[in-house]
Amino acid sequence: MDTIHITMPDGAIRDVPLGTTAAEIAQQISPRLAKEALVARVAPIHGPAAAAASASTGAMAEKSPDAAPEARMTSAANGEGFLVDLRAPIDQDVRLSILTPKDPEAIQVLRHSAAHLLAAAVLELFPNVKLGIGPPIDTGFFYDFVRAEPFTPEDLERIEKKMRELAAQDIPNERKMMPKPEALELYRKWDQGFKCELVEERAIEPMVSFYTTGKFIDFCRGPHIPSTGRIRAFKLMSVAGAYWKGQEGNPQMQRIYGACFYTQQELDEYLHRLEETKRRDHRRLGQELDLFSVQEEAGPGLIFWHPKGGLVRKIMEDWQRDELLRRGYDLVYTPHIMRLELWKTSGHANFYRENMFGPIEVEKDDYQLKPMNCPGHILIYKSRLRSYRELPVRLAELGTVYRYERSGVLHGLLRVRGFTQDDAHIFCMPEQIESEIEACIDFAFAVMKTFGFSEYVVELSDWDANHPENYAGSAEDWARSTGALQTTLTRLNIPFKRMEGEAAFYGPKIDVKLIDAIGRPWQLTTVQFDFNLPGRFGLEYVGEDGNRHQPLMVHRALWGSVERFFGILIEHYAGAFPVWLAPVQAEVLPLSEKFAEYAKKVIVALKDAGFRTHLDDRNEKLQAKIRDAQMQKIPYMLIVGGKEAEAGTVSVRHQSKGDLGPRPLAEFVSSLKQEVESKSVQQ
Ligand SMILES: [Zn+2]
Ligand SMILES: [Zn+2]
Repeated sequence: MDTIHITMPDGAIRDVPLGTTAAEIAQQISPRLAKEALVARVAPIHGPAAAAASASTGAMAEKSPDAAPEARMTSAANGEGFLVDLRAPIDQDVRLSILTPKDPEAIQVLRHSAAHLLAAAVLELFPNVKLGIGPPIDTGFFYDFVRAEPFTPEDLERIEKKMRELAAQDIPNERKMMPKPEALELYRKWDQGFKCELVEERAIEPMVSFYTTGKFIDFCRGPHIPSTGRIRAFKLMSVAGAYWKGQEGNPQMQRIYGACFYTQQELDEYLHRLEETKRRDHRRLGQELDLFSVQEEAGPGLIFWHPKGGLVRKIMEDWQRDELLRRGYDLVYTPHIMRLELWKTSGHANFYRENMFGPIEVEKDDYQLKPMNCPGHILIYKSRLRSYRELPVRLAELGTVYRYERSGVLHGLLRVRGFTQDDAHIFCMPEQIESEIEACIDFAFAVMKTFGFSEYVVELSDWDANHPENYAGSAEDWARSTGALQTTLTRLNIPFKRMEGEAAFYGPKIDVKLIDAIGRPWQLTTVQFDFNLPGRFGLEYVGEDGNRHQPLMVHRALWGSVERFFGILIEHYAGAFPVWLAPVQAEVLPLSEKFAEYAKKVIVALKDAGFRTHLDDRNEKLQAKIRDAQMQKIPYMLIVGGKEAEAGTVSVRHQSKGDLGPRPLAEFVSSLKQEVESKSVQQ
């Protein structure tokens, strides 16, 4: 009998008979591993035999019948071999890993098997459905069906119940190979036209790979987990319309989505996160808290800041302007509309045209609504000759720009057509780059800390050095600037991911993504070199040597835009802003009209101390007033009645901590002052 050598991940070599399966090897290693194993990864070791392997394990060359744009199969060969069923006979020397739930890539195999389980359950309940495709996706799986009637929520419940039944029966997922004509015959008899189409298009002869789960059979490359019993933590989520092969005009299918994880706990966490995402939606909160609106009458993607939102914006902007001045920036204002010619010089009229509103004719001259602030700042820099002594010049503007975004992509405050960037442009000498970059990074981190974010991801985007012809600037420019970005991040001990070839054509950049309260990343700060505009505009400074030189230019935005950052803040805090940002910091709630006088005294004391406060003097029960203040997410509620009036106290209720008891008014004022001045981000 032939023997093959199996190299395990720890380097140990096991000699086993030809055709041994990964399941058998797992069993030899430990019954526990055999129990936990889901799928195996094999990487053929020798050249000539490697080709033969694909015929029997079959996973190497076939195109996935399940391939859909949103679905990425993990079984694709990735240099470290490919995934195969535990029951696939191994017919040559390989490196072998047996994957368990500890291996992240095994989850997609589980999810793919869950998609098959879904199809099996649907076929049991609705035998006449026509089958489309069913791949794994990021959080679960889907399967497409054609059925005359729409699937109802009750149908989904029944299907999910049937899936649980089939999972409990621990039905094996078995691989079968059959000749293509036989496969076509099978699907024709079954009247599964879409599957016939897939086999016609994608099957690689002579043998076509199928998987069966009980009565269900699917044209599928696999691999799959050994049996349905391992599919435990799943939930059917929704039904959506989808076109066959994703192409409009093709037959309309019903796509059933499911979530699937290894454990119930992971599934529960995912469902909780979904709930949280809904609860934090800034568009809903923006309306409930009366912060902002988008008005159909005015047009999509244009933001109306209501008084409360406007107040938060003022606080944000005040903070930023103070910081800008403290950090050596100059504040400027530039026009919203400028000659189109200027945008030709900058190049935007050419490469940015798609995102610009059309020009406006004024006295036979074309004018352009500004999509960027850069050319305006450049004109200020250029307004007189600059000496090296003045550099760096840091021009900052909360500059409102207008961009044509397609209506389909507009989204609340996050994707809009008019927005205010917290923009700045730094013009400096080469020897100043590092300290300028460091100052930008320091500023970015001050933003995160001040507004209550502690987690972040930093990316450094470099050019593709193999294609310098695609970029502005010399190799020296790129090396020096990328080097400065990298050195600075390293010196500041900031972990970052290097993104080769991801830079814009005009220069390398650092992007900071912050992570919000529920773990979502948001692109925020960008610090970006520009080797293009200084040349286009002929920027200069007189150096120490008396000669004229071209300055380096850096674009940087910290929030990105006021609108977007406000949207992120609303979602991060679920509308309950920390007290220094809250539009109303304390709501005064008199127990009844009798205490109106004292309530007004409290209001005056708070206003005198500089706080934003509001009196709820409606003729309502206290419970109703508390509920409304709670709904408005006001940090402090101050309840005043006879006892408080007599003692000069307020009964303090906190939006998240609840009842804090009575406190002398003066004491409350001074503790609130401290909380506001320290910019505490506690909610
Ligand atoms: Zn499949
Ligand atoms: Zn710029």
